[in-house]
Amino acid sequence: VRRIGVLTSGGDAPGMNAAIRAVVRKAIYHGLEVIGIRRGYAGLIQGEFREMHVGSVADIIHRGGTILLTARSERFKTEEGRKEALQKIQEAGLDGLVVIGGDGSFRGAAHLARLGVPTIGVPATIDNDIPCTDYTIGFDTAVNTAVDAINKARDTATSHERIIIVEVMGRQSGFIALNAGLAGGAESILIPEIDYDLDMVVEKIERGRKRGKLHSIIVVAEGVGSAIDISKEIEKKGGFETRVIILGHIQRGGTPTAFDRMLASYTGARAVELLLEGKSGQMVGFENNRVVNYPLEEVLQRTKTVDREAYELAGVLSI
Ligand code: ADP
Repeated sequence: VRRIGVLTSGGDAPGMNAAIRAVVRKAIYHGLEVIGIRRGYAGLIQGEFREMHVGSVADIIHRGGTILLTARSERFKTEEGRKEALQKIQEAGLDGLVVIGGDGSFRGAAHLARLGVPTIGVPATIDNDIPCTDYTIGFDTAVNTAVDAINKARDTATSHERIIIVEVMGRQSGFIALNAGLAGGAESILIPEIDYDLDMVVEKIERGRKRGKLHSIIVVAEGVGSAIDISKEIEKKGGFETRVIILGHIQRGGTPTAFDRMLASYTGARAVELLLEGKSGQMVGFENNRVVNYPLEEVLQRTKTVDREAYELAGVLSI
């Protein structure tokens, strides 16, 4: 292995930059040349390559976003598109590739590995919906952003004795909602993985009111549907007024937490080690406080679900 490429793909996540930095510096430390590929697989097909040096990744460990830019590429999903990518990889003399992204990006990475390109995935998505790793880069930052918003919503909800419904991201998974709801002390948490009953949510609000608690925070994962629709139903069922906050894309930005930077540093560096060991088609993960790796094929077959005990605990602690 002499020369490797690195790209970020799919949805961006805070900490991607720290991962790029880890890949570039670890590779240079071992005497490798590193090519930064801009705009994910779209840039790979277009040959948007640039040499990376130690200084190319200076001053980015604390920045959100990705200096390599990210994109979605429909063309890469086709066999011709992937052939074009393969040709660019060969022309550039790349002996390996690190793909920093989510599950869609790993489907692409698995294809490249099958085409003979040594490819390693580094999980980065705020949704935390990647199996074979306890956490993905960006998740902790997104949860902290959501908790920060919940804290602020709680202040005004308390002053005005209001019910505030906070919609958080997560696509089809409830990891952000569950952790942000638990850490933010939400009264109810609605996530796609666990059936909920709006009558119970309303009952809980009413129970709280009888006890003199006049505000309520309900966290809704985007995967269960629109917070606006849910708020209307709650208003209809309970006869009280609600306010809705949709956090949206601010959850994808911001300076990454120390945890996300450490996770990015560990997993980015390990990806380079795997390439040096001659491995391919693997994803680096972080399980039980240790850096691990699994075949991408296995990652793509498995599913990851939220911790039911944590969900139940959140219910118990918000009686
Ligand atoms: P994420 O990596 O955040 O899940 P996407 O699902 O948008 O993001 O995937 C990012 C890119 O990965 C897509 O635009 C596409 O180029 C590539 N990709 C996704 N699914 C596949 C697939 N089944 N085969 C080949 N490439 C894929």
